[in-house]
Amino acid sequence: MEWNFDNSYARLPDRFFTRMAPTPVARPGLVRLNRSLAGDLGLDPEALSTPAGVAVLAGNAVPEGAAPLAQVYAGHQFGGWSPQLGDGRALLLGELTGPFGRVDLQLKGSGPTPYSRSGDGRAWLGPVLREYIVSEAMHALGLPTTRALAAVTTGEAVIRERRYPGAVLTRVAKSHIRVGTFQYFAARQDTEALAALTDHVIARHYPGAEGPLGLLNAVVDAQAALIAGWMSVGFVHGVMNTDNMSVAGETIDYGPCAFLDAYHPDTAFSSIDQFGRYAYSRQPDIAVWNLAQLATSLLPLMGEREAAIARATEAVHRFPEVFGRHWLALFRAKLGLATPQEDDGDLIQALLDRMAHGQADFTNTFRRLGRPEAREQFTDPAAHDTWAEVWQARLAQEGTSIAEARARIERANPAIIPRNHRVEQAIAAALGDDFAPFHRLTEALQQPFTENKELDRPPAQGEAVTQTFCGT
Ligand code: AMP
Ligand code: MG
Repeated sequence: MEWNFDNSYARLPDRFFTRMAPTPVARPGLVRLNRSLAGDLGLDPEALSTPAGVAVLAGNAVPEGAAPLAQVYAGHQFGGWSPQLGDGRALLLGELTGPFGRVDLQLKGSGPTPYSRSGDGRAWLGPVLREYIVSEAMHALGLPTTRALAAVTTGEAVIRERRYPGAVLTRVAKSHIRVGTFQYFAARQDTEALAALTDHVIARHYPGAEGPLGLLNAVVDAQAALIAGWMSVGFVHGVMNTDNMSVAGETIDYGPCAFLDAYHPDTAFSSIDQFGRYAYSRQPDIAVWNLAQLATSLLPLMGEREAAIARATEAVHRFPEVFGRHWLALFRAKLGLATPQEDDGDLIQALLDRMAHGQADFTNTFRRLGRPEAREQFTDPAAHDTWAEVWQARLAQEGTSIAEARARIERANPAIIPRNHRVEQAIAAALGDDFAPFHRLTEALQQPFTENKELDRPPAQGEAVTQTFCGT
């Protein structure tokens, strides 16, 4: 089959990566192929489904024109510095080019690399299915994200707390260049590499940006938009380490992520996030922290140090304003409002405060605003009612009828999101060799704005999954 590779990252200096082929697996088995994404990338889904195609998706064959390599990077993990991370269980096969532009094709779970440290370089089925479900749901929700092209099983066991079936995810991304990629070279005072990386990222993602400061501003803008998007759908990334922040502004690394059921700003799911560093409401602040690391890494390219610090600081400090603008626009739409008004931020915050107090389901409350079912989301429906009076007055003030607001609300608020208990149920069934719930969930989430009486239900008592685990 035809693969249109043009591997620009592989043309960067050798110290950016280690060239190597994936480690073959025992028995590749196709779990799911994203046929529509394959088509969008000019790949033939039929050919990809044959044993020869699946061999590529499992890492047993390297397609013509690929230049497989493990990328090196560093990063701050939970605030602590790791001077060398890198693709420990992933390999970049190469970059596909076509009318869609240029994307990375990456195998995740493809075997050990020089950056595996103590890891085995493998992934088990659970995290692979989780990333497939959630990343494709994010895309359908309209948020920038890496994509899932395929999931395959390996026929090999992966040892974690117990033996699990091994799997490989084929991931598609604008690139896999992270804040941590810049940090890696900055920490080594490798200014030449930093300059090459900066040029590469500008050419690839931000052709209009001028120099390192232009790049920094562009990444600030992209991340502000992205994280406002996360907040608007109740997404908690869970592991916003600097090595998991894409400079292309895509959601990347679906390890311990989860969506809110009941709204509370302090919600954190990840088992290792003891102190809630990456809790829902902390995400914008953490983004600023991460962007400050990017800014620091770029300083050596920005001329005289004092002036460079001033300019870089100013760029990072733009985040709250840009984020706030996106956040307001998104939440206004969620309330069915058509025009901006001074006090809208307070109106939105008042609802969120009452939702937190009343344990209201995030997705269902917004989706049902203006209907009797909205108040039923709250343990104290009266708290909803007094807020709704103010909201209805606000709608009347701009001349929006409830019917018009309802129409906007249904366009802005998804009916379904990948609820954590559903994701876990799909994984549990797959471990028992029943992939039907995984396929059903994945397919339903392609139409998140369509009513779905089964999947819109919050977890029942005892069904809620409040803890998630990194996909290692
Ligand atoms: P993550 O938590 O997924 O962002 O991974 C952090 C770092 O650990 C990255 O450098 C990964 O490549 C590495 N890593 C995670 N899981 C494994 C594994 N099973 N084998 C080797 N390296 C891994
Ligand atoms: Mg990662």
